[in-house]
Amino acid sequence: MKKIAYMLLTMAVMTACTRKASVSTSSTQKDNLYQFSVDLTKVENDKLEVSLVAPKISADLITYFLPKIVPGTYANYDFGRYVSNFKAYNAKGDTLPVDRVDVNSWSIKNAQSLYKITYKVDDTWDSPEIKGEKIFEPAGSDIDTNKKFAVNTFCFFGYFGGMTKVPYQVSFTKPEGFYGATSMNFANTTATKDVFVADNYFDLSDAPILYTRPDTTVLKIGGADILVSVFSPNKQANSKEIAANINSMLNAQKEYLGGELPIKKYAFLIVLSDNPNLMSYGALEHSYSSFYYLPEGTSKELAQTVKDVASHEFFHIITPLSIHSEEIGDFDFNTPKMSKHLWMYEGATEYAAGHMQIKYGLIEMPQYLDMLRQKMTTMKMMNDKLPFTEMSKGVLDTYKNQYMNVYNKGALIALSLDIKLRQLSGGKYGTQNLMQDLAKTYGKTQSFKDDELFDKITSLTYPEIREFFAKYVEGPNPLPLSETLQLVGIEYLPEATIKKISLGGISLGFNAQTKRIKIANVSKINEFGTKMGYQLNDEIVSLNGQLFDIQKAQHILDDYNNNTKEGDVVTMEVARKNSDGKEEIVKLSSPAMVVDVTEKNVLKLVDSPTEAQLKLRKDWLSTEKK
Ligand SMILES: [Zn+2]
Repeated sequence: MKKIAYMLLTMAVMTACTRKASVSTSSTQKDNLYQFSVDLTKVENDKLEVSLVAPKISADLITYFLPKIVPGTYANYDFGRYVSNFKAYNAKGDTLPVDRVDVNSWSIKNAQSLYKITYKVDDTWDSPEIKGEKIFEPAGSDIDTNKKFAVNTFCFFGYFGGMTKVPYQVSFTKPEGFYGATSMNFANTTATKDVFVADNYFDLSDAPILYTRPDTTVLKIGGADILVSVFSPNKQANSKEIAANINSMLNAQKEYLGGELPIKKYAFLIVLSDNPNLMSYGALEHSYSSFYYLPEGTSKELAQTVKDVASHEFFHIITPLSIHSEEIGDFDFNTPKMSKHLWMYEGATEYAAGHMQIKYGLIEMPQYLDMLRQKMTTMKMMNDKLPFTEMSKGVLDTYKNQYMNVYNKGALIALSLDIKLRQLSGGKYGTQNLMQDLAKTYGKTQSFKDDELFDKITSLTYPEIREFFAKYVEGPNPLPLSETLQLVGIEYLPEATIKKISLGGISLGFNAQTKRIKIANVSKINEFGTKMGYQLNDEIVSLNGQLFDIQKAQHILDDYNNNTKEGDVVTMEVARKNSDGKEEIVKLSSPAMVVDVTEKNVLKLVDSPTEAQLKLRKDWLSTEKK
């Protein structure tokens, strides 16, 4: 998973393959098969009805579950919250007695005669009336009649206690012209109905489906078929352009993974949102697909976000999907146990997503250093003394508010481990090699014991690595970032004054009423800010002619910081209250200036690096085969 919260204050078009065979409409009960059906053309009060012809049950009493938690989310979501009108029937159509045991489970009496279950499911994206933790959109569901259906299968379909290994058949009746983008194979498909099959509950829950009018592009990379499906509400972006970006990213990832993609088929399911209240975005990984919820923008505006988020999700193919502990390998959807290795599942994944980009030239050094710097800054805002293994074990409750550190400290642990390994191996071996070795040692179907991983890594590498884990991952010590980065000729300064183009030394905030970004603090305004004439509480309408709304602001600021040159005329429109309290639009303008800016966690290349530093930097970042 990758979740990003807004932190402003500081090629061929796919056509659905239709087969001639008719869709099986039989609802004969089978001994060993769940037969689910959903009719997407019948939405009532934002809900869909799910119907299950149950496998034969031998016990008198059986419990039906929807998940409490699903892999990759590290949060208790209680998907049963969205279920209502639960009914169980025998073959004659008589109802059977049902008790709702808790929010996620229902016990059914006289279960030997159970034939069918029906219930309604509300969507998680827009059901504010349902209390409890908000489900991160990539793990949730959306029922948006005639536009899109985001079907994370675990939001709709459950399992009977002790029967997660039984096969599933799922049928969808769909609106005319809709296509179900997914990594699953169609067992059958016609213009109005799709049937999918899965070997067990884990495989079904691992494969989301995005139903929309199709905007899909298929890439062929190294023998693998890569489906890119995009829903852009205002048609700002399209699958062809986003797929072109994913293409260059996946080609680099293929090289990074040793020259081959470890899959034959993969689907990127991307929903772009024009919700003006969107406060976080990101994606959730699966074995053969990933589901995205991102702010709508043009393909160009989204290019870096797609690269960062999609490469992260794709690298999850390595961990946790191919390297994981028993807690994940034997995932329990209703009584979850957490592993202590989030530093690897999320941290090493996030690190690889950035390392791959600098290594294969998708970004340049200044941008990479900025990426690392942002992680350091965020890490320092969190509890840096909390051992990462302990945080990981307690992420569902005690340390819930520390979860976001997996993308920050987690990635910096992997960075430090990578450079340490390079140093110990004379440049030959890094985390890239280590992850490939671990994937060979374990793999998709073989789990490690949570307590043995550090020793296993040590046995594959160097004794010093055990000390590294003891001190910095199991222990409370802050990472030795300064000395580690020195090894590759990067200087780390906790605070430094540098010369750069700035927006004026102002801090930004958000006015929830007007939905505009405002100037929240001018106490550190610099010479350029003074020339622009900013005033406290000015609300920014546009910057350099681009509408400055919450969804676009980050893209616009990145573009401003990376591309503005000294002397370029900067223009801004702000909404400002005049002395009568009336709002007026004021135009501000000044030539851009390079000013002294004091920043925290500054990273810069060492001025006169030693040969040893240059060599290790090259070993760390060069693509030459050794
Ligand atoms: Zn992730």
